[in-house]
Amino acid sequence: MKLKVISTGSIGNAYILYNENEALLIECGVKIDDIKKALNFDYSKVVGCICTHEHMDHSKAIWDVMKIGVDVYASAGTLKARFVDTQARAKKVESKQNFKIGNFKIMAFDVSHDAKEPLGFLIEHPECGKTLFLTDTNYCKYTFPELNNIIIEANYSKSIIDRKYGADSGKEFLRNRILKSHFSLENCKDMLSANDLSKVNNIVLIHLSDSNSDEVQFVKEVTELTSKNVCAAVNGMEINFNKTPF
Ligand SMILES: [Zn+2]
Ligand SMILES: [Zn+2]
Repeated sequence: MKLKVISTGSIGNAYILYNENEALLIECGVKIDDIKKALNFDYSKVVGCICTHEHMDHSKAIWDVMKIGVDVYASAGTLKARFVDTQARAKKVESKQNFKIGNFKIMAFDVSHDAKEPLGFLIEHPECGKTLFLTDTNYCKYTFPELNNIIIEANYSKSIIDRKYGADSGKEFLRNRILKSHFSLENCKDMLSANDLSKVNNIVLIHLSDSNSDEVQFVKEVTELTSKNVCAAVNGMEINFNKTPF
């Protein structure tokens, strides 16, 4: 199985998990043309799209994805916020609900973000094993046993934010919004420490902020903490994404 990053960050998020036979679109927060190109204009093996929440950087192409014949799985709150809740291709899912798309077994879970009903996803497939997809949250109350791969937000570093948006910067509003709605490098490390990583193959850091993160430093710190294959997602990147490195 492979993971392709169409786009990551506040400019737009869209990822594809695919093998020879099937492809799962994770998020659709880019122009539909970018999704079409990434799929080489062949939508026949796309089994569905899962979308965490309605913010444009995650849901921009939600209408167009449905128009090319792909079902979109999201919470009722997300679908309603984008006015697609009555569409036949809109599939409502709830926190703690298990559902199947092709050979992907998925469980949705609630996260904490300034959106209507945001979700994270635990994605299971025979090839990539159990994969956690967690973004746009300031906290995760769950831990997940026996993970094989992790795709996780590391939006900003608290030290960078404190330096830039401290008490006398006049930008405390911005600071508070970031702190309240996104996962910091420190949150990400705490989350990784709280979970059993013994079976984890890849850790992919996503949604890094352009101005409040340091890719090299983030990868270094998470590698030191976990001793796993760690990388920061970059637009256009494609990596092997299996249960084991072999
Ligand atoms: Zn976002
Ligand atoms: Zn968001």
